[in-house]
Amino acid sequence: MTDIKKVAVIGAGVMGASIAAHVANAGVPVVLLDIVAKDNPNRSAIAEGALTKLLKADPAPFMSKAAAKFVTTGNIGDNLDLLADCDWIIEAVVERLDIKQNLYAAVEAIRKPGSIVSSNTSTIPLKALVKGMPARFSKDFIITHFFNPPRYMRLLEVVGGENSRADAIETVTRFADVMLGKSVIFCKDRPGFIANRLGVFWLQTAVVEALDLALDIEEVDAIIGKPMGIPKTGVFGLIDLVGLDLMPHINASLSAALPKDDPFHVVNQPMPLVEKLIAEGYTGRKGKGGFYRINREQGKQKEALDLKTGTFRPVRKPVVEAIEQGGSKLDRLLAHESVHGRYAWQVLSRTLAYAAALVGDATDDVAAIDEAMRLGYNWKYGPFQLIDQIGVEALVTGLNASKFPIPAILRIAEGRPFYRVEDGRRQVLGLDGTYHDLLRPEGVIMLEDIKLKSKPVLKNSSAALWDIGDGVACFEFTSKMNALDPDIIDLLMRSIHLVAKDFKALVIYNEGSNFSVGANLGLALFAANIAAWKDIENLILQGQTAYGMLKYAPFPVVGAPAGMALGGGCEILLHCDAIQAHAETYTGLVEVGVGLIPGWGGNKEMLQRWFTLGRLPKGPMPAISKVFEIISTATVSKSAAEAKELLFLRPTDAITMNRYRLLADAKAKALALVPDYKPPESVTFNLPGPSAATALKMAVDSFFRLGKATAYDVVVSSALADVLSGGDTDITVPTDEKTLLTFEREAFSKLARQPGTLARIEHMLTTGKPLRN
Ligand code: NAD
Repeated sequence: MTDIKKVAVIGAGVMGASIAAHVANAGVPVVLLDIVAKDNPNRSAIAEGALTKLLKADPAPFMSKAAAKFVTTGNIGDNLDLLADCDWIIEAVVERLDIKQNLYAAVEAIRKPGSIVSSNTSTIPLKALVKGMPARFSKDFIITHFFNPPRYMRLLEVVGGENSRADAIETVTRFADVMLGKSVIFCKDRPGFIANRLGVFWLQTAVVEALDLALDIEEVDAIIGKPMGIPKTGVFGLIDLVGLDLMPHINASLSAALPKDDPFHVVNQPMPLVEKLIAEGYTGRKGKGGFYRINREQGKQKEALDLKTGTFRPVRKPVVEAIEQGGSKLDRLLAHESVHGRYAWQVLSRTLAYAAALVGDATDDVAAIDEAMRLGYNWKYGPFQLIDQIGVEALVTGLNASKFPIPAILRIAEGRPFYRVEDGRRQVLGLDGTYHDLLRPEGVIMLEDIKLKSKPVLKNSSAALWDIGDGVACFEFTSKMNALDPDIIDLLMRSIHLVAKDFKALVIYNEGSNFSVGANLGLALFAANIAAWKDIENLILQGQTAYGMLKYAPFPVVGAPAGMALGGGCEILLHCDAIQAHAETYTGLVEVGVGLIPGWGGNKEMLQRWFTLGRLPKGPMPAISKVFEIISTATVSKSAAEAKELLFLRPTDAITMNRYRLLADAKAKALALVPDYKPPESVTFNLPGPSAATALKMAVDSFFRLGKATAYDVVVSSALADVLSGGDTDITVPTDEKTLLTFEREAFSKLARQPGTLARIEHMLTTGKPLRN
C-alpha cells in the first residue's frame, strides 16, 4: 500500500475548496486548481479567491487558519505540472461528464504511475467516467463522494470500478479514515450511492405526503424530527439548508439514472409550489429564505410557507398531540389515530422500505446503510435501527396493508431484528439470512463494545471506571450531558486510589456527543437558592482536591476529549499529563458567562502554561494578561488545533482525526508514558500582586466605558484579576499552587453569593444563553 503524502484537488468550488482545506487540516500538502480566470491578469484568481473565501467561511473549513499554508493554488492552464508528484488527485469540478473526461485526459498525461485519481461526482456512474480512458487510468480510478461540509460531515462514500486496483481503494480508505477522520462506506456503482439515494427519496416522500395532507411545515418538521432521531431541521428546514434550487437537479439526475420500476419515480412528482418559490428567489438559507424566511419588513419575524395557500405567515408552534410532551416515543406517534400519526407512518414506513430495497442493490451491507444515514444525514438511528424499534413484523404488516412491495431483506429477516448482541459481540443480519459480527476497522477500540463484554470496575449514578485492557483504566462521565457533579468528583477520587493499586495508567474519555458541558449548574443554583453555601464551597474544595490528586497521581493520566469540554470539563483536562484530543474538540473556561471564575484549578494551570509554554515577551505581565483575556472573554477553541494555540492543549498533546480512533490512540499514549513515569513537580509562581490587578481592571473599565463590557462583567473580571495577579503578594515572594487555589476558591465563593451571578446562572439554565447583566 502506497502512502499518501501529497494531494491535489481540481475544482475549487463549494466542495473542492473545502476538501482541500480538510486535507490541509491533516497537515498534508495539497494543490488546489481551478480553470484559468477570464479577463483577469491573475490567471489563478479563481483558486486563490476560493482560498481567501475559505479563511472567512463560517462554519470554518480550516481547523486553524495556520493550516492554509499547506494549500498551493493554481490554474489548470499553467500549473498542471503541480500534479506530477501527487499521490491522490481528487476531481471536484462541475457535474458534467464531458468536462470531467477532458480533465482526466489532461491529468493522465502528467500524473505519476500508481497515483490515485478519484471523482467527487454525486451522480455520474464510474463506468461512464472511465469510458474511453486507458486501462492504466481505470485501474487507478475510484469515486470518493464527500459530504458537505467536508470538515464536519464524517461520511465518505467510496465506489470502486470493475478494474479499480484493490490497493488503491485500500490506500484512500486508510488515509480518509486516519488522516481525514472519515467513516468510509463502500457502495456499488449505483445512482446516488447510498445516503443521497435514500435521503432524497425520504425528503421527496415527506414533501409529497405533506402537500397531500395539507399539513403545516412546522408540524412536519416536528414529526419527522426528534421522535425519529432526525435533526430538528426536519424536512423543510433541511431543504432550506441544502438549497431548494438543488433539489430539482438532484431529482432529475436520479430519475434519469434509476430503473423505471424504482419507487423513486412515484414520489418524484412535479411541484409547482416549489418551482414558484425558486423562480422568486426563495432558494433557501443562502437566498432570501425558502420554506421558512425572516421577514425584515416585519421586525425580523420568522415566517413559514403555508402549503395550502403558498403564502408566508408567522411561524406557529406546532400542536402535535401524537408526540408526547417533550417525549419522543416513536411507537405512540406511528400508531396515533390522527392525520399526524398517519403522516408519520406513511413517510417513515416508505422510507424504511426503500432503505431495505437498497440492500443487494446499492450495497449488500445493512450496517453500511445505517452508518451512511447516521453520518451523511446526522440521523441518530439508521433505518434498520428504526426498523428494529418498530419491529420487522409490524413494518411488513403495515406495508402489506398499503400494498407496498416487500423488499427481499425484510422477508429474509422473517420477523427477526437486524441487530443483536451475541456473547458480547454486536451482530447484524446479512442477505444470507444469518447474523455476522460487526467488525470495527483495525485498531479501533470503542467503550460501547467493551460495555457489552464487561462490567464497570467502579460505578455510581454519574460516572464509571472501566478496564480497557493492558493495565489501562478508563474513567467515563455518565451524567446528563456529562455535567460534572459531586458524584463524579467522588468516583474520580475512588478511581485514582484504585488505579494506583491495580492499573498502570488512566484515560479520561467517554462516548457522549460532548466530553463535558461543565459543572451541573442546576445543582449549583439549587444550592444557592437554599443558601447552602457550605455545600458549594465544599464542592469547590473537593473538585480542587480530586483534580490535584489526578495531576500528582503516581500513574500517567491521559484526557481524551471530543466535542465540548467546557468549564470544569476543560479544567480536568488541564490536570492530565497528556491529552489525546479529537480534532473537533471545543474547549474553554466559560465560567464568566455564569458570573463565576474557574474554581477547580483552571486559573492556576493556565497561568503555569502561559508562563512556561507561551511564546511571549519576558516578565509575568504578558502571560497574566493573556490568561486574563482568555478567561474573561470565555474563549472557546473551535477545534483541537485552536486549543493548542490557546494552550488549553500543550504543543506535545496529540490530535486524533477519526472519532472512532480516539480511545485507542489515548490508550496507546497512556501506555507510552508508563515506563519511567514520574508525576510532575509542584510549581510556584512569582506574581506581581495588586499593581497587576489594577492594570487589568483599568483595561476592563475602558471596555465598560466603550460599551464592550457590562457592569457585572466588571465585577467578575475584577475577581479574576485579583486571583491571576496573586492577591496581595509581591513579585519577590513565590506563590505556591495551594495558595492560588485558595484565592480561586475564595473568589468563586464570593461571586456565587452575588445576585448578578445567580441571575446569570438562572438565565443560562432557562435559555441556554449568557445573560449580559
Ligand atoms: P461548484 O460549481 O461549486 O464548483 C465547481 C468548480 O469547478 C468551479 O469552481 C469551476 O470553475 C470548476 N471547474 C469547472 N471546470 C473545470 C475544469 N475543467 N478544471 C478545473 N476546474 C473546473 O460545484 P460543487 O458543488 O463544488 O461540485 C463539484 C463536484 O462535487 C460535482 O461533481 C458535484 O456533483 C460533487 N458534489 C457536490 C456536493 C455539494 O453539496 N455541492 C456534494 C457532494 C458532491
